[in-house]
Amino acid sequence: KIEMVNVSKSYGKGATVLSDIHFSVEQGEFFVLVGPSGCGKSTILRMIAGLEDISGGQLYIDNRPANYVLPKDRQVSMVFQNYALYPHMTVRENILFGINSKEKLTKQEKEARLKHALALVQLEPFAEKKPRALSGGQRQRVALARAIVSQAPICLMDEPLSNLDAKLRTEMRAEIRQLQRQLGLTMIYVTHDQVEAMTMGDRIMILNEGRIQQIGEPIEIYNDPANQFAASFIGSPQ
Ligand code: ATP
Ligand code: MG
Repeated sequence: KIEMVNVSKSYGKGATVLSDIHFSVEQGEFFVLVGPSGCGKSTILRMIAGLEDISGGQLYIDNRPANYVLPKDRQVSMVFQNYALYPHMTVRENILFGINSKEKLTKQEKEARLKHALALVQLEPFAEKKPRALSGGQRQRVALARAIVSQAPICLMDEPLSNLDAKLRTEMRAEIRQLQRQLGLTMIYVTHDQVEAMTMGDRIMILNEGRIQQIGEPIEIYNDPANQFAASFIGSPQ
């Protein structure tokens, strides 16, 4: 479970980029974060992953205040918007890097996880290649596989499908949703894509200019948008 209570964020001495962020995501829930560029989506994920401090309010992970849980002890995996692959490592090595070194796995167990993840993202033939030899979409799938092998109970994905072609994107949506259900993952999924939000989310949170516009099930938001922004963003009839 992830909970933010009145969280705010400003970078350094700069302007406030998030205000009054208040929401909770239940265990096993698929929670989608949507909003225009610059509204603060990645910042929210980065705070949950422990990569960014919160400036005000409180963040709880499984009911524990997150400032008592070191980032490396948070059982969180993250798929970054820019993939964040290591250029000098092969696809195989990049993916294996997703396994927390605290998990004492045998070589066989690691290999089994790797194989499973490679198959899911259809990258078996590329295991020994370096990222620079892959297309943007293939790199994105490596990043997905790295999150999959970690088997962390909380998964954060930052626009993981934005570089894929339409066919693969549709396939991967279904794969991610199936995997999330199968593993009972608690998911926060960032997207620009209304269709993705509407079809994947148990609930959606709409953000604009650092403030929450609405939180609800897709059908609720569609039928009863809280304001003009939510309506136009989600494509409700006006
Ligand atoms: P996009 O959809 O384009 O990825 P986003 O919703 O993920 O956008 P964020 O990356 O969270 O937006 O950025 C929110 C705001 O915070 C923006 O105004 C951005 O300029 C600012 N910001 C983000 N990272 C930093 C940083 N490291 N230092 C200063 N300002 C930052
Ligand atoms: Mg972003």
